[in-house]
Amino acid sequence: MRILVIGAGQMGSGIAQVCAAHGHTVLLNDVDAAAIERGRQAIARNLARQVEKGRLTAAEAQVIQARIGPQLLLSRGLEADIAIEAASEDQHLKRRIFAELDAVLPPSAILASNTSSISITLLGAATKRPERVIGMHFMNPVPVMKLVEVIRGLVTTDETVSAVMQFARDLGKTPVAVNDFPGFVSNRVLMPMLNEAMFACQEGVATPEAIDTIMKLGMNHPMGPLELADFIGLDTCLAILDVLHEGLGDPKYRPCPLLRKMVAAGHLGKKTGRGFYTYG
Ligand code: NAD
Repeated sequence: MRILVIGAGQMGSGIAQVCAAHGHTVLLNDVDAAAIERGRQAIARNLARQVEKGRLTAAEAQVIQARIGPQLLLSRGLEADIAIEAASEDQHLKRRIFAELDAVLPPSAILASNTSSISITLLGAATKRPERVIGMHFMNPVPVMKLVEVIRGLVTTDETVSAVMQFARDLGKTPVAVNDFPGFVSNRVLMPMLNEAMFACQEGVATPEAIDTIMKLGMNHPMGPLELADFIGLDTCLAILDVLHEGLGDPKYRPCPLLRKMVAAGHLGKKTGRGFYTYG
């Protein structure tokens, strides 16, 4: 298949890598040409690690990399069977992208979003094909994590859901279908825990290291909540909490002021080198 991936950040580059590794041709788009280059370099580093571990030959890695081409402009006549949007978590931005994808891609193409929380129904309403709009929520890091949360918008058809569930299985993932509510299942359950860890840190209950150690050793979590928030991206965490807070209207989802302050300062976690921890 021909897959158009929108956004070449942490998630978009991971999605592009997995699609290419399963034989698909990938067009990788971003507003920022440098982001496409960074995405391609990240993929090259991941593939080189697979070669070092003996999981791929150098020739196979080259073939995978060659299947991923940069696609700076979205223009009419672009051919793709499915678009997977993984741009920044902002509903206005995503609605604009969906309207544009609808205008340039063939009517048969499925338009999927990797959004963590934004309404699929809302994104579908920005197009003339809402029945072919769906959530395809991969987990980070995409090449490693098995789950794809598949989100059915209000008018997404059974045919679109089945096609995307099968596509996810063909990528070696385990899809789980859910309905369209703010944060779906994954982030509705995860984000309040991360937010509460931030409140505990803000109130001086314990240091970030102590909070993370308690959750790792005490609850058997592979990563502590603050480490995980840094890994996801603090801007993305804040955007998701804002969607939960506004969409569900319950004060229990209010984002921690410390999180808002860190995002304002540009401390976005691992991707900018500084968040609850610093990264080399
Ligand atoms: P990121 O900040 O690493 O990358 C976002 C990319 O989108 C950037 O390269 C940016 O230049 C690009 N972009 C912005 N506007 C664009 C446009 N108009 N057209 C094309 N590209 C555009 O963010 P990320 O962590 O990769 O997250 C991307 C999406 O995936 C978000 O919706 C996020 O909620 C979701 N997601 C993130 C995680 C995670 O753990 N980080 C997990 C699952 C889902």
